[in-house]
Amino acid sequence: MNTYTSRPVVLCLSGHDPSGGAGLQADIEALLAQGCHAAPTITALTVQDTVNVIDFRVLERDWVLAQANAVIADLPIAAVKLGMLGSLEMVEVVQEILQKLPGLPIVCDPVLRAGGGGALGRDEVGLALRERLLPLASIATPNLPEARLLAELPEGTADECAAKLLPYVEHLLITGGHGDETEVHNRLYSRDGDQHSFSCPRLPGSYHGSGCTLASALAGRVALGEAWVSAVRSALDYTWRTLRDAEAPGRGQYLPRRL
Ligand code: PLP
Repeated sequence: MNTYTSRPVVLCLSGHDPSGGAGLQADIEALLAQGCHAAPTITALTVQDTVNVIDFRVLERDWVLAQANAVIADLPIAAVKLGMLGSLEMVEVVQEILQKLPGLPIVCDPVLRAGGGGALGRDEVGLALRERLLPLASIATPNLPEARLLAELPEGTADECAAKLLPYVEHLLITGGHGDETEVHNRLYSRDGDQHSFSCPRLPGSYHGSGCTLASALAGRVALGEAWVSAVRSALDYTWRTLRDAEAPGRGQYLPRRL
């Protein structure tokens, strides 16, 4: 054993993507790159490639609770990252887990679709997530299509979605990667009225796992003690670099290179 201080531990509750672009592998790699240790609890298994999702299966409640409980009893969790949950029951299981971790920073990536458009949970999962998990989370990181689903505003702007969602969650980062302007505008809203906008040049191509990379990097930055606005900026910058350096090993989307 060495005498170094341990890296901050981030509990990840996410699905597994066998292409390695998104899900828990994205979490582990992005956290490693921030200097954190990922403790990955699997919520769901997916069958997918870089093109799209073929199928998914949510794990049994007892298995998810047992995984998370073992880690919580043993490791000093510094932050939590939520990814794909996949079912209403899994939203309840995660609510039960989070209630055991009061006061920790919690980053919620409201995953409902894969990058290729395939569903990773019905829309009701998004609404349950809004009602039950956003109030326990410190920040949610939807892209604009996800924010519209959560806010039930199919044509809503980022500002309109934020007005609807801020009563549920303290901070909201709505990312603009799914639009078509030459600049990507990412907007951070806080319940106290504070607002920040972060812009970056749009990169060509479609990416698999960009949302997972961003949310995990953000959880890592806050686990390291960085304040929210600075942590959001660092996580966005890191994610942009992983997309700039992305690889296209398959027939579909590019995979972020999370060094
Ligand atoms: N989590 C899992 C397990 C996934 O398979 C996916 C997408 O395929 C996502 C999350 C979301 O990916 P993205 O970061 O591209 O939104």
